[in-house]
Amino acid sequence: MAEVRIAGVSKYFGTAQVLSDVTVDIADGELMILLGPSGCGKTTLLRTVAGLEDASSGDIFIEGRRVNDLAPHRRNVAMVFQSYALYPNLSVYENIAFPLRAHKTPAHEVDGRVRAAAERVGVVEFLRRKPAQLSGGQRQRIAIARAIVREPQVFLLDEPLSNLDAQLRTQMRAEFARLQRQLRTTTILVTHDQVEAMTMGDRITVMSGGLIQQIGTPLEIYRRPANTFVAGFIGSPPMNLVPARVMARDDGRGLALANGWIPLPTTSPLETDRDVIVGIRPEDLRIVPDGQGLISGSVDLIEYLGSETLAVVADGGVDWSLREGGGPTMRLHEMVHLSAAGSAIYAFDAATHELIGTLAEASPNGSAQNTVGG
Ligand code: ATP
Repeated sequence: MAEVRIAGVSKYFGTAQVLSDVTVDIADGELMILLGPSGCGKTTLLRTVAGLEDASSGDIFIEGRRVNDLAPHRRNVAMVFQSYALYPNLSVYENIAFPLRAHKTPAHEVDGRVRAAAERVGVVEFLRRKPAQLSGGQRQRIAIARAIVREPQVFLLDEPLSNLDAQLRTQMRAEFARLQRQLRTTTILVTHDQVEAMTMGDRITVMSGGLIQQIGTPLEIYRRPANTFVAGFIGSPPMNLVPARVMARDDGRGLALANGWIPLPTTSPLETDRDVIVGIRPEDLRIVPDGQGLISGSVDLIEYLGSETLAVVADGGVDWSLREGGGPTMRLHEMVHLSAAGSAIYAFDAATHELIGTLAEASPNGSAQNTVGG
């Protein structure tokens, strides 16, 4: 077990910068997720920790020791690749034993450790088979057994579940998270799947374009997205993000949308004429009676998913995603009125895209209404 410190790491491939001054501290025993869209630099960062890539600048520390100049096999990390990278000619047993033999582990120890690792991931019955005689899920388990058999200080996993079908992925997600909690081995897992990140991670590092956007627990990332990128990346459907301007009217100040008006608490520190981006999650919008809504529009799309219903409400050129539990309560093309609690309405700076706050908290003396738009 060990803490990992990634300190100011940048990486260039030729003249292209793919990591920009990345700093992340991963605690001993923590499961840290690197999450971001394709090409954002997640794999490159993981490979840099593993020693498969050199950092152009910055340092990597494992348990307080700078490892930049250590070869991968001397860093005491075990990596699981998306492809699993099993040796096709070796039996499952020999695949799992491989790292032990490579490290010249005494023969009498090998058998016990291979069997213990195989047992942990439930593949004892396949030990004599070759990888080609296994399903994708079984191969994935072998790759994990091969990683845990060495008892490394750190696990590095690159999209380990992405080759599995949806049902197996859900099952393996839970199994791996449970295994990691039992072993308490510091783990960095790369994924572009936000559900994987939210359900498995102790914390999530959200990346985009080689830059860290936010580091936090799943709840922090969801409840308090640092900027519009994170707000739009986490959540399905993603947060509605709509341009607005702070305006003053006779009846008070508010956020003017293309076709709506969100009253601001009198104590709101948002300056009049300031351009902002309003964010409301689809699950926080609710249908209210006429006259009580912040937004009015016609129902453009209804998707009934069984346990919940997704809808799109079109309002003056803006499409609002809406999500409600259970069956649909609206009809296609019907005019509906939407509202949300002030604590669920986010304001982001229109220029920097950074979070300013929610309308409930954008009050210096904390006296803001919790619900607006009545
Ligand atoms: P994905 O989810 O698609 O695997 P990623 O976030 O893991 O994406 P990386 O594989 O780290 O992204 O790639 C980051 C950027 O670096 C990409 O633009 C990629 O094309 C580039 N890149 C990666 N490896 C190399 C290389 N060896 N030489 C040049 N460019 C590279």
